[in-house]
Amino acid sequence: MKNLRRREFLKKSAVAALGSSALISACSDEKKYAEPDKISNEKFEWKMVTAWPPHYPILGESADKMAKEIEVMSSGRLKIKVFGGGELVPALESFDAASQGVADMCHSASYYWAGKVPAAQFFTAIPFGMNSQQAYSWFFNGGGIDLWKEIYDPFNLIPFPAGGTGAQMGGWFNKQINSVADLNGLKMRIPGIGGKVMNKAGGSSVLSAGAEIYTNLERGVIDAAEWVGPYHDYLMGFHKIAKYYYYPGWQEPASFVELLVNKNSFNGLPDDLKKIIETVATSHCLSMFSTFEQKNAEYYNKLKNEEKVDFRKFPDDVLAVLKKYTEEVLQEMTDSDPMSKKVYDSYKKFQKISSVWTYTAENNYM
Ligand code: CA
Repeated sequence: MKNLRRREFLKKSAVAALGSSALISACSDEKKYAEPDKISNEKFEWKMVTAWPPHYPILGESADKMAKEIEVMSSGRLKIKVFGGGELVPALESFDAASQGVADMCHSASYYWAGKVPAAQFFTAIPFGMNSQQAYSWFFNGGGIDLWKEIYDPFNLIPFPAGGTGAQMGGWFNKQINSVADLNGLKMRIPGIGGKVMNKAGGSSVLSAGAEIYTNLERGVIDAAEWVGPYHDYLMGFHKIAKYYYYPGWQEPASFVELLVNKNSFNGLPDDLKKIIETVATSHCLSMFSTFEQKNAEYYNKLKNEEKVDFRKFPDDVLAVLKKYTEEVLQEMTDSDPMSKKVYDSYKKFQKISSVWTYTAENNYM
């Protein structure tokens, strides 16, 4: 078996060495396509709702860009009008709008829908979970997308990964975190699974919408808040009211965005338009991620050198305790929901194998 595989590999390598023309003839596709002048010229006008404020930096901008790209690639056959949160429906009703056909698409983050689909959280962010490159590997090659489709199928929605924030920061604090005891009584704006972990650690997670975080932090209603990373946090102005900026972002080592398409709308499209949607969404996994990486690097330096922000690293024992509580929270989630268990089993298995490789190749290099 081993020898056979080796021989096959060598044969393919020899074909590759002959050049691309040999490869093309070796892989020629038998599928017959319509002649260009016979392509359906049926036109579609769709609506996309989003979970972000209109044209929100990077996230909303990516939705706008995606609609434009689909229109250009389809030569105007599929036009998509984008609505920011509150323009057609409130941001947190965008899932239902796409599910029920009020809109054809929804651009959002899956953890917003945890109340309806607990397992959805695994497709946005898991504390101490996989980083961006690991999670993309799981989505595209480790069965992640199939599970994502399975959990949304009852809602008449087809999901596509559509980008992500990369690593986030741990958040802005007005109290120093020098030991586990400092988490006691800490009031922090931290949503999702991270919030549950903070509660177990003796703190209290507070839910506040984006616009309220600044005033709550300024007035001392909360002691700390996590948002995204240097670029978005700078735009929010947190450096003006908080003393310390902590890292790493244990609660969201990577966070992802989804493009949801109403199944009836999708099935009503010709194959080429379906493929355009999928391809554009996939291309945004790279374009959004690379935009976040570039902006965060730029604004990290700006916060450090121009704004003289006091960056702090969480102590190792604090991270160890948060990790232990994360495992407990995930255990509780998977005990109470079979679909969460199915998704997490796949996630965990992939993370275990992938982490050995990532650590060997990346950490040692860095
Ligand atoms: Ca966050």
